[in-house]
Amino acid sequence: MPDDDYDLPKLLADITAPWRQQAACRGKPTWWWYPTRDEHATAAIAICRTCPVRSDCLTAGLDEAHGHWGGESERGRRRIRQIRSIRAQRAARGLT
Ligand code: SF4
Repeated sequence: MPDDDYDLPKLLADITAPWRQQAACRGKPTWWWYPTRDEHATAAIAICRTCPVRSDCLTAGLDEAHGHWGGESERGRRRIRQIRSIRAQRAARGLT
């Protein structure tokens, strides 16, 4: 996504969200959550497992294209979105 496509008000609201004050990753190197290789994410994932705001983080980052959010990789978040979509489709058909 080109930089000029960012929704600046949403971005600022996300950055200043109160739950971020409790994030276990505060003060840690940001690049741990944007690894170029899977093994580089090990430290980030270990920290995310202890984070008290993991759920808030996952909600905020579910649609993000890059990085680890709520302890989930890009692939993990894509899988969660797919499961939620299938559940929503089933609910819409009264199949739940
Ligand atoms: S779950 Fe989110 S807020 Fe918590 S440590 Fe991981 S990346 Fe940071």
